Amino acid sequence: MKQIDPNAETKIYDIAVIDGDGIGPEIVREARKSLDAAAAKEGFALKYAKYLMGGAAIDATGEPLPQETLTGAQNSDAVLFGAIGGAKWDNMPRDLRPETGLLALRKGLDAFANLRPIKVFDALIDASPLKSEVVRGVDLLVVRELVGGIYFGQPRGRDDRRGWNTMVYGVEEIERIAKVAFEAAMRRGKKLCSVDKANVLEVSQIWREAVTNVAKSYPEVELSHMYVDNAAMQLIRRPRQFDVIVTGNLFGDILSDEASMISGSIGLLPSSSQGAKGGIFEPIHGSAPDIAGLGIANPLATILSAAMLCEFALGQNSAARRIEQAVKKALELGYRTGDIAEPNAPKKVSSIEMGDIVAELIEKS
Ligand code: NAD
Repeated sequence: MKQIDPNAETKIYDIAVIDGDGIGPEIVREARKSLDAAAAKEGFALKYAKYLMGGAAIDATGEPLPQETLTGAQNSDAVLFGAIGGAKWDNMPRDLRPETGLLALRKGLDAFANLRPIKVFDALIDASPLKSEVVRGVDLLVVRELVGGIYFGQPRGRDDRRGWNTMVYGVEEIERIAKVAFEAAMRRGKKLCSVDKANVLEVSQIWREAVTNVAKSYPEVELSHMYVDNAAMQLIRRPRQFDVIVTGNLFGDILSDEASMISGSIGLLPSSSQGAKGGIFEPIHGSAPDIAGLGIANPLATILSAAMLCEFALGQNSAARRIEQAVKKALELGYRTGDIAEPNAPKKVSSIEMGDIVAELIEKS
């Protein structure tokens, strides 16, 4: 076990905490237990400051991303975030919707690289709707460009009869996300698949050329290109063929949700959105208003996001491994929240119980 020198100055990190809406507060609370347990084991400390975003911020301040939240996030070492949104705010004008707050936070932190690992836990092999022989051993990473593409491109708009958006990428934007993906591939299986629609879209032709250009600096990485429609099919047919996938904002949004079902539940998948500094660490799922307040949300995606926070924002890799191992162990011991439990599962637990079990396993590690 790592020895902590009691005389050494404890490193303290500033973490901006954004609970958000729906199940957000319930899952973030559980992730903090794991973060604190891992920090205690590794001899660092976390100072949390809470900020509002999304529906909660609209209700309190009239805007989805108050300036105080953006400034707080920019001045922190990392942002731990739950989820935003809900029916109550669905009919607000676009600039006052909860999602606008999240997009503005990502833009404000220039968090251009969204990393979504998809790993199948052996203990949950039967939770996937796909056959076990298809999903066993899947360990892939989707790297999605997050602050460009069609979600931000101009012109955009609508009148009564038409709506329009613009998918646009410049070479520099593509090169910087491609570099993140090649670096990730170097740390993993050294295979990168770039997903585009270059047979139809000019923006994808530029994408493909730029990614191919960056590949020259990574001769060890095997680069392939795939059209997005084929990628959607291959992810279900033979997901083990993928190591790292890099793609744009829209395609990445869709493919990573599709890929989430390989693991069995959207409640299991973490993500990080990184730019030059810190980053936003959040589960890939939304605010699940249908189960908010019932105490049954699966906190594991957020707990695993906290592990990514330790690794990518704080450089505390062994804290990250402790959290990941504790999650794996909790699943191996048979603990299940409702979304991943077989009917009559003997160890069906609430969000709070799952959070406590993982934190305890970290303490014992
Ligand atoms: P969702 O991901 O919130 O829920 C989809 C389904 O998965 C629901 O049945 C939900 O109960 C279930 N689910 C999600 N997370 C779960 C968890 N941790 N444990 C157990 N079950 C879980 O998607 P949705 O229903 O399409 O959207 C709900 C709201 O969330 C909308 O307002 C949407 O805009 C918002 N949203 C926010 C984000 C974000 O904050 N990053 C992402 C996606 C959607």
